[in-house]
Amino acid sequence: MYEWYLSKKLKSKNFVCGHCGSDITTNIGYHMTNKGESSDIGSGYIYICHKCNKPTYISFKEQVPGPLYGKNFLKEIFQDERTYKLYEEARQCMKINAYTSIGMCCRKLIMHIAVDCGAETGKTFAYYVDYLDKNNYIPANCKKWVDIIRDKGNEANHEIIILEKKDAKQLLSFIEIIISVIYEMPYQAEKYMENTDE
Ligand SMILES: [Zn+2]
Repeated sequence: MYEWYLSKKLKSKNFVCGHCGSDITTNIGYHMTNKGESSDIGSGYIYICHKCNKPTYISFKEQVPGPLYGKNFLKEIFQDERTYKLYEEARQCMKINAYTSIGMCCRKLIMHIAVDCGAETGKTFAYYVDYLDKNNYIPANCKKWVDIIRDKGNEANHEIIILEKKDAKQLLSFIEIIISVIYEMPYQAEKYMENTDE
C-alpha cells in the first residue's frame, strides 16, 4: 500500500520551482512509501515552495512541474501584451518538455518584436531576423546567435525536426536578452529619468 506522509524533516532538496521560478532549498513537504507491495514504483516527494507555497512532485526520475526557465519580466515593459503572453507561453512549454513548441513560440516572438521595432508586417522570418540585426537591436556580442536563431527557428516551423532541450533553452536565453535590450532597458531608463527629475 502506498501512503503519503507529511514531514517537516525531509531530505533537504535544491530545485528551481516550476511555479514561481525561484531557486530554492527546502525540507518541508510530503513523502511516499511503499509498504509491502511487490511492485516498486520507488519513492516520491512533494516539496512545498516557501516562496509561492505551491507543491512540486519530485522522484528519482522527474520533477513535476519542471523548472521554469527564462527571466520574469514585468508585463508593463512590453508595447503589446500579446508579446508578453507569447514569452510566458514559451516559458510554460519548458515545464512540460515541449521543446519544439518553444522553437515556434520564439520564432513568432522574433517576428512580433521586429514589427514593434518598425519592421513591415507580412514578411518572412529571415527578414525579421535580418531586420533586428541590421538595425542594431541585436547586441554586437550576440551576432553569432543570428545564424543559429535563423536556422533553429526555421527548423521548428518548416521541417519536421524535433528540437531538443538544449536548443529550447538556448532559444529562450536569446529571446530573454532581446526582450531585455529592446523593452526592459528603455523602460528602466525612462523610470530612472522620471525619478531623477523629481
Ligand atoms: Zn515557488
